[in-house]
Amino acid sequence: MRIFDGHCDTLSKINHPDELIRNGFHWDLERAGKYGAYVQVLSSFAGDVQRYDPAAVMESQLEKAIAFESNHPDRLKLIRSASDLKASENGGVFGILGAEGAEIFKGSIKELERWFRKGLRVVTLCWNYDNEVCDSVAGRRTHRGLSPFGRKVVERMQELGMVIDLSHTSDETFEDVISRVSSPVAATHSNCRAICGHPRNLTDEQIRGIAGTDGVIGINFYAYFLTGSGKARIKDIISHIEHISGLVGTRHIGLGCDFDGADPMPEGITGAESLTLVLETLAKANYSEQDIRMIAGGNFLRIFTRILR
Ligand SMILES: [Zn+2]
Repeated sequence: MRIFDGHCDTLSKINHPDELIRNGFHWDLERAGKYGAYVQVLSSFAGDVQRYDPAAVMESQLEKAIAFESNHPDRLKLIRSASDLKASENGGVFGILGAEGAEIFKGSIKELERWFRKGLRVVTLCWNYDNEVCDSVAGRRTHRGLSPFGRKVVERMQELGMVIDLSHTSDETFEDVISRVSSPVAATHSNCRAICGHPRNLTDEQIRGIAGTDGVIGINFYAYFLTGSGKARIKDIISHIEHISGLVGTRHIGLGCDFDGADPMPEGITGAESLTLVLETLAKANYSEQDIRMIAGGNFLRIFTRILR
């Protein structure tokens, strides 16, 4: 089975690229390598953008993945195109470069294009702050949605074949983007507000909006986004899957575990090795093998294949 996880922050945890092989965090190549094939969006994450130079922080994290690939091409292949994705059918561990915040573009379409050439394919438009592109759900409604520059970013990302990620955006930003896109969009690591009322989670209307683009929602394992408390169990992951499935079908559900970006995880989840448990629980809940394949990776693979050139 091919696993596809839409979001992890492992690049922000490691110091040296070789720590990708084995580490004490949630995700590494040894554990991901135990599955038939594993495609991981490797996001770069700057955290408190008011204190640091976020573009420089994210850049240095992405450079770790790029350096690792060139030193160990047999262990990690970075996916840049639809044909690279196709090759993942043959097994192995694959990365896709991501940025958790359009701060990486430094307000410049030229920077966006430069990062595209370096392999960046997924951009979460913002994290917990409003930026040059849009407002965050935790922000101050600086632009009331997308800024004029943000509209250009959304347009250029679609032209180049980059995945627009709406996790962390404000409801106004979300609507603004959905009304402008012609290709599928993702919420790479977001859950359902109807099940857990956290503002980081998606309303039913937003879930329908993503499905309307033929997009995918990656289920986030962070206990606070699953239950609203610091405690969760694997069955709480299933509850969010059930809700989306009831609204728009299993075609729009994926994994967005938030490994190395979220703690606490549900009881029994220690990292990439725990996905087997999640898939087994889905089987016990009577999901068909076909549905489990789609949720485990097939749905994200479908939209990435469509978006990447
Ligand atoms: Zn996040």
